[in-house]
Amino acid sequence: MTQHIAVIGAGIIGAACALELLRDGNHVTIIEPGDPGGEQAASYGNGTLLNPSSVIPMSTPGIWKKVPGYLRDPLGPLAIRWSYLPRLLPWLRRFVSAGSTPEKIGITAQALQPLLADAPALHRALAEEAGITDLITRQGVMFAYPDRAAFEAETMSWRIRKENGTRWLELDEDELRQREPALSRDYKFALLVEENGQCRDPGAYVAGLIRHAVELGAQLHRARATGFKIVNGALQAVTTDRGDIAAGKAVIASGAYSKQLAAFAGDRVPLETERGYHVVISDPGITPRYPVMPSDGKMAFAMTPAGLRIAGQVELAGLEAAPNWKRAEVLLAFVRKVFPSVPKDLPPERVKMWMGHRPSMPDGLPCLGPASATGDIVHAFGHGHVGLTAGPTTGKLIADIIAGRPPRIDLTPYSPRRFA
Ligand SMILES: Cc1cc2nc3c(=O)[nH]c(=O)nc-3n(C[C@H](O)[C@H](O)[C@H](O)COP(=O)(O)OP(=O)(O)OC[C@H]3O[C@@H](n4cnc5c(N)ncnc54)[C@H](O)[C@@H]3O)c2cc1C
Repeated sequence: MTQHIAVIGAGIIGAACALELLRDGNHVTIIEPGDPGGEQAASYGNGTLLNPSSVIPMSTPGIWKKVPGYLRDPLGPLAIRWSYLPRLLPWLRRFVSAGSTPEKIGITAQALQPLLADAPALHRALAEEAGITDLITRQGVMFAYPDRAAFEAETMSWRIRKENGTRWLELDEDELRQREPALSRDYKFALLVEENGQCRDPGAYVAGLIRHAVELGAQLHRARATGFKIVNGALQAVTTDRGDIAAGKAVIASGAYSKQLAAFAGDRVPLETERGYHVVISDPGITPRYPVMPSDGKMAFAMTPAGLRIAGQVELAGLEAAPNWKRAEVLLAFVRKVFPSVPKDLPPERVKMWMGHRPSMPDGLPCLGPASATGDIVHAFGHGHVGLTAGPTTGKLIADIIAGRPPRIDLTPYSPRRFA
């Protein structure tokens, strides 16, 4: 039965949902105030990685001991702004608890695995449909360590990854040098996860997917959704700052901005933003073959058409605070530690900085499923650090829910009410 569905948000999640809903023969209206895949979206500026191996959540055992440090050091890989702490505390408690034992990490990893599995191939299929195949590659991703001991210090994470299907090649110093000659000689050991891939330009990719959805008949409505008209338990319309849009079903896919809409749909969810940053260096003078994640940097290095992108950092400071560009400078300062031949003292016109909002639940799992106020509204947000990777499978799951088909994955771990 053809239904009229409003998809709220045109990041990777909204784009993937729109395409799968169109495939089922629905009428789709995409509601988005900005440019699809534009700089306002986390989907624009992320690390570009499509890693099925990314099953380890941010919160890990003993993280609570590090919280005072996170408050003291505004430029550390994870920082908490003092002024935001009172509002953050309930989320932070749940975050610490979600990762308090290796067993909990194992359960979360198991829940993430099917959302991330086959991501490069699934993205490739979407990209082919949209005529932008060249944006998706699967060359593998390199995890670089100063030495084997540094890798062995992360045994728990790699054991859990292995239990969830990740396989890797171990590269000694010689092999590492042969495969990635520009990498600093301070890295003497690496893992190559060959199943991992990359989206070379996530902003252009999302824009291309939405363009394709419009070609297939979707309407793109430039507006900000403000709420819902629900009568006798049935959705009548999505309200926006530019008038109401009649719809029988709606998907909330507005990333870090989904909390209020979810509340209007009857669910109070502990959604926070983990703010992240990137810098892009144009003409960096190197052409790394693989995206690289240096173990001591907690950041991703990847080539994009605009240059070398370094993305990372977690800053817990809410949606409204101005960016702290010193955090992007930390990323920039690390570049020559990883790739020493990148020129020093780059002129400002060759360095572009960006800040964006990861939509993060405390346990690192998204909210996927019908809303409490009415099953006509479906939640599709909260993908944290892995939303780009999880986009295609999320789109398929949301289409299953809306079509009334049994979902291809058990949705229990992603219940929007798991913290209620
Ligand atoms: C620095 C950084 C590095 C990352 N690296 C990776 C990575 O390598 N791999 C990976 O898989 N993930 C990565 N992520 C995470 C990933 O980018 C996000 O999980 C993902 O982009 C979330 O997609 P989304 O569509 O839910 O949200 P978004 O991309 O933020 O899109 C939400 C859209 O909704 C719109 N919107 C907001 N409010 C409304 C409203 N009221 N009405 C209508 N529209 C609205 C916004 O304008 C926006 O366009 C990274 C994130 C960051 C910040």
